[in-house]
Amino acid sequence: MKIAVYSCRKDEIHLFEQYGKEYDAELVLSPLPPTKETARLAEGCTAVDIITTPVGRELIDIWHSYGVKAIATRTVGYEHVDYEYAESLGISVSNVSYTPHTVAEYTVMAMLMAIRKMKAIITRYMGQDFSLKEIRGRELCNMTVGVIGTGKIGETVIRNLSGFGCRILAYDVFEKDSVRRFAEYCSLDALYREADLITLHTPALPETCGMINKNTIASMKDGVVLINMARGVLVNTADLIEALERGKVAAAALDVVEGESAIYYKDFKYKPVGHHEMAILQAMPNVIMTPHTAFFTDEAVGDMIRYSIEHCIKAGSGE
Ligand code: NAD
Repeated sequence: MKIAVYSCRKDEIHLFEQYGKEYDAELVLSPLPPTKETARLAEGCTAVDIITTPVGRELIDIWHSYGVKAIATRTVGYEHVDYEYAESLGISVSNVSYTPHTVAEYTVMAMLMAIRKMKAIITRYMGQDFSLKEIRGRELCNMTVGVIGTGKIGETVIRNLSGFGCRILAYDVFEKDSVRRFAEYCSLDALYREADLITLHTPALPETCGMINKNTIASMKDGVVLINMARGVLVNTADLIEALERGKVAAAALDVVEGESAIYYKDFKYKPVGHHEMAILQAMPNVIMTPHTAFFTDEAVGDMIRYSIEHCIKAGSGE
């Protein structure tokens, strides 16, 4: 089977070659994103493999005319593909899932870095300031951690945290017995009121967008630490900045931020980024910002590639 692979990064090539061989697939690898101009790459292909570039009706029509039967996005999210239209033409659309450990371990790392003031320690060391001023940290074992969202990642964070000896509160619209072994489910209000450190692991839904805002922050403990490894839109960025400036929020670690999609994964070394709130947060010594890299491990990238090819093969052969 022939598969057109779009937006193929250099670090993905050897994995595509490995899994292409394993699944006996002929791959057309291209660094270009899928657009009307690059649609021809899929001529003669049964399936296309993409990442986050929006795929609308026009492009789907062109691929359909070439006989494409499957669109596999090697991402968890699939809202960038007009999947209803594709499926109305008989083209199957799939997403992937990958190991939750990648984001869960990164989350615990971010928690520890935030409470041990690691950004200040590292940047000051680089300037040869070896003094102890303003860098005294806190111990996780004495803190109450609130985990919002106990799905695959949230539950893995809780399991990872269980070795630290901290009290763990959890909130989810669906509670799980497997989580109750390590954490206490409580109401969202109680979690906001009692947690010293809050970590977000829910999807972006109408009811979760902006859930961290000036009202909910006001109900939290003074000096609370916020971790967002889920989706930027869960946090009202302006309200978070205001709370950090007042010291209500003592520290934050953000792998995601509102308005990131046009910026992250691109190199802005020589041009203005033009995202004022990101610049304010980035300048704060108590805010750790990373460019949506929590997922990025050998294991997760391998899963993304393997499962997307597997889908192409299955859908292409009518399974
Ligand atoms: P999941 O679907 O397994 O879990 C999500 C959980 O959120 C579910 O248990 C669900 O019941 C719960 N939930 C839904 N609505 C809720 C609400 N209103 N209040 C509380 N809980 C609610 O998803 P996951 O794989 O654990 O991913 C969690 C988040 O992590 C997603 O937003 C995902 O996009 C994000 N993520 C980020 C990265 C990264 O690199 N930073 C990588 C992968 C996933």
